[in-house]
Amino acid sequence: MTQVYNFDVVILGGGPAGLSSAMYAARGNVSTAVIDINPFGGQPSNYMVLENYPGSINSGGFELMETFEQQADLFGVKKFPMQEILSIDLISDPKVILTTEARFNAKTVILATGAQAKKLGVKGEEEFTGRGVSYCAVCDGAFYKDKIVTVVGGGNSAIEEAMYLARFASKLYIVHRRNELRADKILQDRLKTFSNIEIIYNSVVKEIIGETNVTKVLLLNTITNETSELQTDGVFPYIGLIPNVEGFSGQIKQDAMGFIYTDETLKTSVDGVYAAGDVRVTPLRQVITAASDGAISAVYAVKYLESVKEKVL
Ligand SMILES: Cc1cc2nc3c(=O)[nH]c(=O)nc-3n(C[C@H](O)[C@H](O)[C@H](O)COP(=O)(O)OP(=O)(O)OC[C@H]3O[C@@H](n4cnc5c(N)ncnc54)[C@H](O)[C@@H]3O)c2cc1C
Repeated sequence: MTQVYNFDVVILGGGPAGLSSAMYAARGNVSTAVIDINPFGGQPSNYMVLENYPGSINSGGFELMETFEQQADLFGVKKFPMQEILSIDLISDPKVILTTEARFNAKTVILATGAQAKKLGVKGEEEFTGRGVSYCAVCDGAFYKDKIVTVVGGGNSAIEEAMYLARFASKLYIVHRRNELRADKILQDRLKTFSNIEIIYNSVVKEIIGETNVTKVLLLNTITNETSELQTDGVFPYIGLIPNVEGFSGQIKQDAMGFIYTDETLKTSVDGVYAAGDVRVTPLRQVITAASDGAISAVYAVKYLESVKEKVL
């Protein structure tokens, strides 16, 4: 028989936003659960070092997230990692999350499901994923020792990942569609210290080509419209994010990309449903802003629970 749980707050996603909201909600003395489809930790668990999380100099992403989790544990948060979610109903009262293992009835839900790398959407990308195409430098960088690697993108993530990969690769190309990078100046300055990195501006990847593994990419120069081939063993696209909204998309107001609209208390368009971190419409997607969102969303979820209780009394 399916296990049934009743919680005041159920948080979907156990990254920085989810674990921070879990800690704040449980500390607000309401029963709190966090559900993740993966192990806890979110995106930071996959990259090496965070240089910009205040109070923690050069912290390892994995270790930092372990601390987030331990801090949530201190306040009695119930954790459900590695869940296979069957359905999410944010509109019913209570809201219901059904997994293969259990039914979760929730008075409030905080959506903290994050975002993932946007695909290039070109021929060869899907075919060569895992055989030369990767979205995680830390996971796969070591496979490219003394090889040629191409990073696609010009923002902070692309440049950070390029510098990480350049430690393994013999040659690293950054292909960027504009004539200047978008990344912070400090990262651009650091990039200049790598003699094996070359930036190819005004260009996009049109096709990823190979046999068993990737051997080259077809580039299109966006100014001249000329195409050219670039020999490469690996392609790492970092061209932006798409929100993880599968299972509840359409039940709340979202922008054209699917990111969730919230007000300043991080309430969504549905009463009792809040959103925090990368999954919402926000001007900055970082660990510190995700953690901050976690705090705000949980405090207002608890206030919402109090207001509902007052109405009943
Ligand atoms: C390569 C790279 C480098 C970065 N470097 C930095 C940096 O140096 N400093 C910095 O501050 N930020 C950095 N960031 C950004 C930072 O990682 C994110 O802003 C932050 O992780 C967002 O936290 P989050 O909790 O909103 O989402 P995430 O970290 O994405 O966590 C979301 C969690 O939700 C889970 N999930 C997804 N869908 C569901 C579902 N349907 N139900 C339940 N759970 C679900 C996921 O498994 C995941 O555990 C980097 C990002 C990348 C990709």
